[in-house]
Amino acid sequence: MSSVNRFDVITIFPDYLAPLSLSLIGKAQASGLISIGIHDLRDQTTDVHGSVDDTPYGGGAGMVMSPEPWGKAIDQVAELAPGEIHELIVLTPAGEKFTQELAQELTNSKHLIFACGRYEGIDVRVSDFYSKAKNFKVREVSIGDYVLGGGEVATLVIMEAIIRLIPGVIGNPASLDEESHTLTSESGVLVEYPNYTKPKEWRGLNVPDILLSGNHGEIAKWRLEQAQIRTKNRPS
Ligand code: SAM
Repeated sequence: MSSVNRFDVITIFPDYLAPLSLSLIGKAQASGLISIGIHDLRDQTTDVHGSVDDTPYGGGAGMVMSPEPWGKAIDQVAELAPGEIHELIVLTPAGEKFTQELAQELTNSKHLIFACGRYEGIDVRVSDFYSKAKNFKVREVSIGDYVLGGGEVATLVIMEAIIRLIPGVIGNPASLDEESHTLTSESGVLVEYPNYTKPKEWRGLNVPDILLSGNHGEIAKWRLEQAQIRTKNRPS
C-alpha cells in the first residue's frame, strides 16, 4: 500500500505552521519520506490589501472567505503532484470528526491539501466545486466539537497524527501497535494501559510487582486488563 508523500497547506498565516519543521515531522522531511509545502492564500489576491474575505450573502456577523483566491491556490497546488488524486481536507467544525481510523486511512493518500479557514469559514462553493472536479476528493474535517479561530492548529493535529503512522517515520514501528485507539480486544478498541519507568518507588508510589516479574505472558495479560478498565472508566 502506498503512503502519503506530499502535503500542502493553504493558509493566510504561513508562520502558524512553523512547528512542522521540528521533531519527527522535521526529520521525516529531511530524510525525504514526505514533503510539505506551505502556501500563503494572499499570494492569490489582486488588490492592494490582499483581501481574502467579504460580507456574507443573507447578512449576519463576520466575514466569509471568498472562493476566488481559494480556487486559484488549490489549482496551483494540485500541479505540484501531477497525476495523483488530490485529497482536499477543508477544516471546519461542521465536518466529519477526525479519528485515529481516519488518520490511518489518510496515510493511503499520495497528495493531501489542507484548506485552513479563518473568519466565518470558506465559501462552501469551494468544497462543492472540488467535490465534482476530476482527480479531487473533498473531505470536510473537524478535530472536535469546539470552535477554533482558524484551521491551522487543526491542520497541525491532523498532519501529526497521519505522519507518525507513515512507515519509516517512527524509529520502532512496534510502538504504534499497542497505542490508545489502535489497541484492540474482543470488546473493541481500547486506550493504552498505564506506563511506568524508573525509579521503582516515587513519592511513596510503587510500580506494580507484575511489571518487575519478567513474566511476559502475565505482563501482557495485566496490561490488557488495565487497558480494558481504563477504557470502561474513561469519561465520554
Ligand atoms: N463559522 C464557523 C462555524 O460556526 O462553523 C466557524 C468558523 S471558525 C471561527 C474559523 C475557521 O477555523 C474554520 O473555517 C475552520 O477552518 C477552523 N476551525 C474552527 N474550529 C475547528 C474545528 N473544530 N475543527 C477544524 N477546524 C476548525
